[in-house]
Amino acid sequence: MRNTIYDHAITDDVIIVGAGLAGLFCALKLAPRRVTVISAAPLGHGASSAWAQGGIAAALAEADSAEAHAADTVAAGAGLVDEEIALALAREAPARIEDLLRYGVPFDRDVEGKVALGREAAHSARRIVHVRGDMAGQAIIAALTNAARNTPSIRLIEGFVAEALLTDANGIAGVQLRRGDDISAEPVTLATRTLVLATGGIGHLYAATTNPQEASGLGLAIAARAGAVIADPEFVQFHPTAIMVGRDPAPLATEALRGEGATLINCKGERFMLARHREAELAPRDIVARGVFAEIAAGRGAFLDARTALGTRFADKFPTVHASCIAGGIDPAAQPIPVAPAAHYHMGGIAVDARGRSSITGLWAGGEVASTGAHGANRLASNSLLEAAVYAARIAEDIAGSARPSPARALAGPPNLHNCAMPALSSENLRRLMSSHVGVIRNGDHLAQAVRTLAAVEHDTGNIALRNMATTALLVAASAFSRCESRGAHFRSDHPTEESAFLRRTMTTLDEAREIAERLNQDARGRVADPGVRSFA
Ligand SMILES: Cc1cc2nc3c(=O)[nH]c(=O)nc-3n(C[C@H](O)[C@H](O)[C@H](O)COP(=O)(O)OP(=O)(O)OC[C@H]3O[C@@H](n4cnc5c(N)ncnc54)[C@H](O)[C@@H]3O)c2cc1C
Repeated sequence: MRNTIYDHAITDDVIIVGAGLAGLFCALKLAPRRVTVISAAPLGHGASSAWAQGGIAAALAEADSAEAHAADTVAAGAGLVDEEIALALAREAPARIEDLLRYGVPFDRDVEGKVALGREAAHSARRIVHVRGDMAGQAIIAALTNAARNTPSIRLIEGFVAEALLTDANGIAGVQLRRGDDISAEPVTLATRTLVLATGGIGHLYAATTNPQEASGLGLAIAARAGAVIADPEFVQFHPTAIMVGRDPAPLATEALRGEGATLINCKGERFMLARHREAELAPRDIVARGVFAEIAAGRGAFLDARTALGTRFADKFPTVHASCIAGGIDPAAQPIPVAPAAHYHMGGIAVDARGRSSITGLWAGGEVASTGAHGANRLASNSLLEAAVYAARIAEDIAGSARPSPARALAGPPNLHNCAMPALSSENLRRLMSSHVGVIRNGDHLAQAVRTLAAVEHDTGNIALRNMATTALLVAASAFSRCESRGAHFRSDHPTEESAFLRRTMTTLDEAREIAERLNQDARGRVADPGVRSFA
């Protein structure tokens, strides 16, 4: 993309920010309507979708049903799943799998030629559609990238980061972009009335994560800064079995390994999950993550042991995991794999309705950056690719069926022309703070400290990327601070049980998060003035 062409360009295109499953699927579904897809990284890179190993959940087996799939989704979500949304998601799964097959995704087949189905933790039936064992994400993104590159109505802008949304009295008016590899470059603005955010998750806000660097919560931040309602930001899922071989992001040992019988052991060889849950290694993710976290905290370490369950079949069944282990000096056929929990998936996001519409006119959100109500407090494995495809299709249908708004003509000057250099180590400090204070096990004091620090960074920094990271981190920390209970993936050691008063989704805004920070600051100032005052009410 050359700035001379697009500087302050006005377009009738639908603009989609993000080129993972949600963004590309939506663009393809909108064809032949003209679409511009913006991606921070070259297509095929920088998207969690391409890294998905397990696959996509779809009730395709005769003995299975959408109702059973929805029931498992609801059970995993710890009381906060919107049951209608979960059922509709499950019902639309077969049609979206058909779409993906049409776009060229080579899902594995069984001996009868039907799409083969695997089992994963907390699913009551075999219903995971996969490709060559653990290559689903790569195959899906390869097929969609190929289809998008061959679709004339899709214009691709690669290597540009969306750093602000522009709004006016009519809603969305445009988006401000900047080259990802040159923070001193002038920003570019595109004026549009129809914008879809499909920017993925927030895992890279944490020091230990399975997510690519591009999953830094920037899409959520720019929507929040434009005033969008954000849902359930406190619910961050930590994958229990990231492989600890010193890489950032950490490679993942897919849940499917435990589905195939791999066990979790400590350094004494004990299966520690047996004592923690009746389903042991196949318990919901948050319980397994806390079990792994506790073993590591107790100094006993945690290892995934696939020696008996897979042995020499490992390389063939799970080539991606096998390659990660071998690169880290571990032969998983013969040795237990060292694992730890890592930030993996964000249940929260931009609040959207069943059509993918956000609270801002002209702004849709799909995939991990959105919060539809399908996951509640904890996502069921393999439901996120499904949700990305289902909502991408719905967004395309909604946009195609809506009257075309008149183009946004008058763009006020972009709000953020200046961009300071990222202060050394700042993003690393933020990531460490999120892992230590807003991580697997949280408490009120640590969360309060994190809220105040993040609000200060969000307010003070002149670096736009850091400010956007701090914006999303602040929303996560402030909502985690306000939820004085433990539910699903959100665990508070100072409030270790579920509380009926919190049996509701969080709906919040950036202004509310800033207010929480301000009240905590006042409380801290009050405590200095009056040491008798001990807690923030
Ligand atoms: C290792 C791993 C394994 C997983 N396995 C599974 C699985 O087996 N099954 C399952 O259902 N889910 C799985 N998940 C989760 C799932 O992959 C994601 O939730 C899903 O792919 C999200 O899709 P998406 O299109 O919303 O986002 P992504 O695929 O992450 O795509 C986001 C896109 O937005 C771009 N982007 C981000 N910010 C900006 C910006 N500011 N400006 C411009 N572009 C931007 C990125 O470059 C990228 O192109 C896994 C996740 C990981 C990390």
